Amino acid sequence: MIPLQRGPLPEELIARMAARSERIGDHRGGARESWRDARTIRRDLTVHLVAMAAGLSRCMYCGDSEGTSIDHFQPIAMAPQRAFDWFNHLWACAFCNSNQKRDLYPTDRHGEPLLIDPTSDEPADHLDLVLVTGAYRARTAKGRETIRIFGLDRPVLERGRAHAYVRCRSMLRDLARLAEHQEHAEALAVGHALAVQPFADVLYEMLRLRTAPRAALVFGAETVAGLNMLTGPHFAKWGPVGR
Ligand SMILES: [Zn+2]
Repeated sequence: MIPLQRGPLPEELIARMAARSERIGDHRGGARESWRDARTIRRDLTVHLVAMAAGLSRCMYCGDSEGTSIDHFQPIAMAPQRAFDWFNHLWACAFCNSNQKRDLYPTDRHGEPLLIDPTSDEPADHLDLVLVTGAYRARTAKGRETIRIFGLDRPVLERGRAHAYVRCRSMLRDLARLAEHQEHAEALAVGHALAVQPFADVLYEMLRLRTAPRAALVFGAETVAGLNMLTGPHFAKWGPVGR
């Protein structure tokens, strides 16, 4: 999981959602049916969520699969009045949404969610990613519940992250060598491919650690050079990761 920037919505879409919210009580099927009926709103929201998502429309929770639906972070069953609240919408894959999270929404004794919202929390405050194994370790109760509810410890994800770490190191070394040989077009292509690949959390963690004292020892000097290039002016237009 990586932090994501929630963009603003057009005024007219906000107005349509507000109008729907006001009429939720009148809908015979309640908030859930009203949400299902709101096809145009869901279609328009999807465009904005996909633009926010990491890589090529990846799920905001697992970062692996393609997102397929809008998840209500606080479930409609629990908070029907938030069905059309933009700050309650995230982009999720079918597995994370329907098999894992469903209507689960653990809270602490103050009612605060014990789930990481990548658009308002820094996931790294709650989770450590062990790059070599691809496993997440919880730093907080919120991190622990996030791993449990989204199944971030499922073997397919851990293996996927471990492979992504190998791939990232290899591509970053390649990037550094291409740049050294002035092959800028190919270097840009490698940098772009790195930035949009699944498991953006792996590259994000490497970027976070690149200035650590032992980074060159752990990653190798060429990999660190590649990481520094990714954050340099050539790649600034893609953002640090995920585009
Ligand atoms: Zn997912």
